[in-house]
Amino acid sequence: MSTTLKPSKTPAAAGVGVPTVWLDGKWYDRETASVSVYDHGLLYGDGVFEGIRVYGGKIFKLSEHLDRLYDSAKAIWLTIPMPKDGLAAVTEEAVRRSGIAEAYIRHIITRGIGDLGLDPRKCAKPSIIIIVDTIRLFPEEVYETGLRVVTAGTPIPHREALSPRVKSLNYLAHILAKIEGIHSGADEVLMLDSDGHVAEGSGQNIFVVKNGAVRTPPAYAGILKGVTRDVVIELGREAGYDVQETMLNRYDVYTADEAFFTGTASELIAIRQVDGRTIGNGTSGPVTRDLRSRFQALARS
Ligand code: PMP
Repeated sequence: MSTTLKPSKTPAAAGVGVPTVWLDGKWYDRETASVSVYDHGLLYGDGVFEGIRVYGGKIFKLSEHLDRLYDSAKAIWLTIPMPKDGLAAVTEEAVRRSGIAEAYIRHIITRGIGDLGLDPRKCAKPSIIIIVDTIRLFPEEVYETGLRVVTAGTPIPHREALSPRVKSLNYLAHILAKIEGIHSGADEVLMLDSDGHVAEGSGQNIFVVKNGAVRTPPAYAGILKGVTRDVVIELGREAGYDVQETMLNRYDVYTADEAFFTGTASELIAIRQVDGRTIGNGTSGPVTRDLRSRFQALARS
């Protein structure tokens, strides 16, 4: 009998710092930071975002995340009104001010304030928001026992509709998939693309291990090219694993020796069951554990 994981409440971890918000040049706290109801980020999901971790006070892979943020913005014809190095400096300052050593940073770029029509040209200036808080998606023990996953009926958006490479403020497809998972009592969902290929989780990339080979879908499969995914590919290759970026079917997941998700918020987390099929021996396998410990060592180096 499996238990359903409930979302954990994560105010800034007890006694360590306070959530801090930077919004268009001014500092706020969680209660006072607010945006206009005419912001197209709210009205239409017109904007992009990033999520970044801070380990022991050090920001993990800041430049990789900012590169993706600026590329996401470019893909939706949005110019972030600040150079990348300026945004990096304010991000560092926000982390310092928060005093949170184990933090989660959320960057949000909205199209800005416009009228009630869609036209982005009516939005005079995009808004930049940086939130520094904490995050925990799954309880610690699940990293050992693994997640129970079901395939969602909702596919990821077609890459020529809203490219999943764009980390946009429109996450409804992934939220709908997550809702399916919630109603089936699963911990997480596996999303397919519109052709039925394995794509990703609701907020994670997926890897499978079979006969020693570590496989994950390629970026052109129309997935979000995860920063954690790229780190794990590199760590895996350095460690001598045969890591392949290749299209996967559900068959490959069902018959894998091991499977795991990667993501900024969930890090590297084992999958123990998919659609009722037990993966491997039904707990975190040796390759998953090894890559997880290599990831943790790097994050804290
Ligand atoms: N896929 C989706 C849909 C996501 O939202 C995320 C989280 N950003 C990921 C994959 C993992 O990406 P990353 O490792 O960069 O957090």
